[in-house]
This record gives sequence, structure tokens and C-alpha cells, in this order.
Amino acid sequence: MQGTPRDILRSVFGFDDFRSPQDAVIETVVGGRDALVLMPTGGGKSLCYQVPALAMPGTAIVVSPLIALMQDQVAALRELGVAAAFLNSSLSADEAREVFRRLHAGELDLLYVAPERLMMPGMLERLAEVNVNLVAIDEAHCVSQWGHDFRPEYIRLGELADRFPGIPRIALTATADEATREEIVGRLRLDDARRFVSGFDRPNIRYRISQGAGGSRDRLLRFVREEHPGEAGIVYCLSRKKVEQTAEWLTKQGLVALPYHAGLSAEHRREVQERFLAEEGVIVVATIAFGMGIDKPDVRFVAHLNLPKSIEAYYQETGRAGRDGLPADAWMDYGLQDVLTLRQMMAGSEADERIKRIERTKLDAMLGLTEMTTCRRQALLAYFGETLAEPCGNCDNCLEPPETWDATVAAQKALSCIHRTGQRFGVNYLVSVLRGEADDRMRRFGHDRISTFGIGTELSAAAWRGLFRQLIARGLIAVDAEGHGGLHLDPSARAVLRGEEALRLRPETKRAKTKRRERSGQAPVPAEDEPLWESLRAQRKRLAEEQGIPPYMVFSDATLKHMLEVRPSSLEEMSAVSGVGEHKLEKYGEGFLRLLAAHDG
Ligand code: ADP
Ligand code: ZN
Repeated sequence: MQGTPRDILRSVFGFDDFRSPQDAVIETVVGGRDALVLMPTGGGKSLCYQVPALAMPGTAIVVSPLIALMQDQVAALRELGVAAAFLNSSLSADEAREVFRRLHAGELDLLYVAPERLMMPGMLERLAEVNVNLVAIDEAHCVSQWGHDFRPEYIRLGELADRFPGIPRIALTATADEATREEIVGRLRLDDARRFVSGFDRPNIRYRISQGAGGSRDRLLRFVREEHPGEAGIVYCLSRKKVEQTAEWLTKQGLVALPYHAGLSAEHRREVQERFLAEEGVIVVATIAFGMGIDKPDVRFVAHLNLPKSIEAYYQETGRAGRDGLPADAWMDYGLQDVLTLRQMMAGSEADERIKRIERTKLDAMLGLTEMTTCRRQALLAYFGETLAEPCGNCDNCLEPPETWDATVAAQKALSCIHRTGQRFGVNYLVSVLRGEADDRMRRFGHDRISTFGIGTELSAAAWRGLFRQLIARGLIAVDAEGHGGLHLDPSARAVLRGEEALRLRPETKRAKTKRRERSGQAPVPAEDEPLWESLRAQRKRLAEEQGIPPYMVFSDATLKHMLEVRPSSLEEMSAVSGVGEHKLEKYGEGFLRLLAAHDG
């Protein structure tokens, strides 16, 4: 191919301008220097190595951790007319031989390889015989032993520094805090790499979090029906059982919802993944097992029916929404039970004390995020060491500032009730004591005679449970490590008990947002354009089905929207549409022009 990076951006990808810092990254590697690129999901990492791969003579080697991810990227590149191939365990011996033949003949611009394949004996020797122009390591955070995506095969990738001296290496990731970043640099031996750290903000994602016991399924259904009818989304649940039940229930309600978890066969999981990519409007209900490697750009919502175990996990999972930059939702509705379950899981794990402590701290931070009453995005970014000067205007707390009430006295009653009953009872028992609802057991313990018995009749049982939930979330109350649900006071509770600290909390009853809001999903096209929009989508779908690729690989939603705006009436005008490169212009240009012309008449 070759040409300047900008020529390639225009002719191959059909885009007018690089996004920052793509151009600087590309300049760096084309200039022969290593690069470390941290960019949020959807920021445009792939171009950072795909453009240099095409701009320099030879073949770029791209290390990618998942087969699905590789296949997706290669299919998308082929749609652009780029000579790309992959080597992984999904290929037959004959297919692999053909890839090697093309590689040795210098026909490939990019070769995607699984890390274990790359480090197999003989593979690096073979690569030494071809003209490698760049080594790209995608999802570089997989080298981190502390991360949730650790891949042991990634550790050996540091050897590539010796194997390809003088050839630029570029490592890319969307999830890297300070510590992970240093781990990547150390393990991949990228000490001299130029670092590009972009902000982690995903301004197109609207964050919404609510908590409550029960009914979250109905709220989810309402949310999907009202705001994302017919659109693709992911629903995360904590357990396989809940995944199964939720998917079944959503299906009964008339939605296309498929379960996905590690207990299903590999075959079944692959099918789910393929349908999610190929069809429009599929909802996958999944445990965390579903996610990495799902590069679908038009996921319009990510919903959590359980609390994720850390902000890192939450941010990564919600980050799968709206990669195309169009409006998307991160929606969560969790219950107190989640906190207990997660704490029990952590307490019961085999991990050593230090790791357990880290996990507990992370869960507390996650809870802190759910309970806060100020801008969520500011808090999220602050957690990753970034500052957002102004509240974002695109999270629930910004859009509908929550009311708060002075809960100091109620909290004192709750805390002192825990103290008086010996710091070993669970929420429901404590609520009964507070509300003066004695039973035999309580009488046996003598708790119907203590000073906190019946002092809380001003609040309903539900309100008390909500209060306990928030006190747990704020770390004033701790749950016993054995997992029986017994509560005890954290030392930090003392200040509240002594009246040195006031406490403002959310009112419990307000948790279910009933107010219908403007859809944050796809920016609706003007009503008069809708028939044309629908025919453009239908045409895209037909073309995709003919070739067995997902619709977004033909043209993205953003490209179709731009087409609607530009209304090209010639091939030349069509080529000005963002996302229409030379190859797609030739392949699809005429067909879409005919469609546009028919609607003009
Ligand atoms: P990442 O790997 O960082 O999540 P991608 O490389 O998948 O992001 O890019 C996200 C989306 O942005 C893709 O649809 C891609 O085509 C688009 N994109 C990337 N760079 C540009 C650009 N310079 N101009 C327009 N669109 C771009
Ligand atoms: Zn906000």
C-alpha cells in the first residue's frame, strides 16, 4: 500500500482527520521508536498500528489475546481492502500453511497472532525471515498479574525486544492505572517507549445507578423498552443462575435475550457471540465471562443487575457501550444482598489476607460510587487519577440531583442498636428491634428490654434497611467475615455516634426513577428522514448477510448518519462521507447512491 499516514487514513479508512493523539503515535512508530498507548475504549487505538503497518514496507505483527477479537479485526480490514490474516488455533493446517505462504511472499500488510502461537518454537525464527515493520501488542494490560485479564502467555512477550531489535514496538490498552502501566513497561521492556496517555473519559456514556431490593428486573425491562427498543445491549449478573433466569424472563417479555456464562459449552458461547455481532438488537445476559474481545461498536447499553466487585471492573464493563461515540447508557440497579454475597465470596476465597484486603477496599470504593450524590463521572475519573473540572451533565446525579435528608439521628439509632445487641445480628433482626417488633427469639436474648428497642417507629422497615445499606456502603458498618450477615461497627462509626459528624443520605423511596427521560440511545434521526434511514439500514443488513459479516462492518451507524446528512449524489460526493474509503466506495457506493436517489424522487 504505502503513502503518507494521512493519505492512508483518507483512501483506506475514509476518515478526514486523525483524532488526537493518533497522529503523534503514528509519527512515533513510523519514526522507528516504541510507543505505549493508553486510550479509552472507542478512542481509536487500532488505527495507531494499522496506519503505520500500511505506511511502511513489510508486514506488521499484531499480538492479540483472543481469537474472536482477531477474526473481527481481520474481517474489518478485509472489508477495507487491506491484506490481513491471522494465525491461531482456529485455523486448519492447510489454512495456516496458506497464511505462511502469503507471509513469506510479502503479500500481507498485517498478521494477527495469538501470543502462545507467536512464542511457539520455530515461529519467531520464521518471522526473522520476513520483513517485519512493526510489532503491536494489543490489550497490553494482559501482562499484569494484578489485573482481571491476566494472560500468562503475555509475560514472555518481553523477549520480542531481543527478537526484533530496531523494529518499533507499540503496546496498547484501555485499562491501565499507574501501577499497571509500569508493569507493562517493565515486562514488555518498553523503557524507551514514548507514552501517550489519553483521558479516560467516555463522554457519550450516561451513567445511572440505583439501588433497591427486588423489582430490578422490571426496572430493567422498562428501561430497555422505553430507551433502547430493538437495540443491542449487555446485561451483567453475578451468578450463572441469575443469568439464566434473567435471559429466560426477558425472552418471555418478547425481547431477544441470550444467556452467556462460563458453564455453557464453548460452541454455545461462540454462537451467542456471533449472533450478538451479526444481528441487530440482541441482548446478551452474561456473567463477567462475556466481554473482552467483543468489539461491537454499536452496543447501546450495558446494564448491571448486580454490583460489580470494583470500579475497575465496572468501568471496563460499562466501557463496552458506545464504542462508536454515539450516545449510550450504563445502567445499574443493585441490592444490598449483592454486597453481602460479594463480601462472602471474598472472605471465603483461598487468596491470602493481603489480596483479600485489596479486594475489600475495591468493593468499598465501588459502593462509594453507587452511594454518592454528586457527579458520578467526576468520581470515576478521580478514581483513575484524572480531574474533570465541572460536573458532567450526563449522569443521573447531574441530570436529576438526588434529594438528601439529614440521617444523623436515624444513623445514631441504628449504630447504637448494633452496639447494644452485641454486634452480631443481621439487618432484619436489627430493624425489628428498632421498630419494636419482638418475637420469641428477641425476648430470649432480652433485646425487647434494651434502650434501642422500639426507638425507630418513625421509619418503615424498608427505610431502615435502606439506611443500613448506605451505612455499610459508607464503611461505618462492617459485615462479619464468616458470612452470616452479622453487622459490627467500624471505628469510623464513633464520630457519628458522638454527634461529631452529620450524615446526609438519599431517601430510600426515591430510588426507582420513574420520570421518563429523553432517550439517550441513538440520536434520533429527524422524522422525515426515518424512511430513508430505515432503508439504508436494511441495505446494510442485506449486504452484511450476503457476506456473512456483521452489519457494522459494511458501514457504521456514524457513516450512515453522515450519509443521511451529506445526501451524496455522485461517487465523488459519496467518497466524502466519513468511513467511506476507496474499497467500500467501489464495493457499495453505487448501491447506496441508487437508494438515496430513489428517496429523493
Ligand atoms: P479502540 O480500539 O480504541 O476501542 P477502535 O480502534 O475500535 O477503538 O475505534 C473506535 C471507532 O472509532 C471505530 O469505529 C473507528 O472506525 C473510529 N475511528 C477511529 N479513528 C477515527 C478517526 N480518525 N476518524 C473517524 N473515526 C475514527
Ligand atoms: Zn455528572
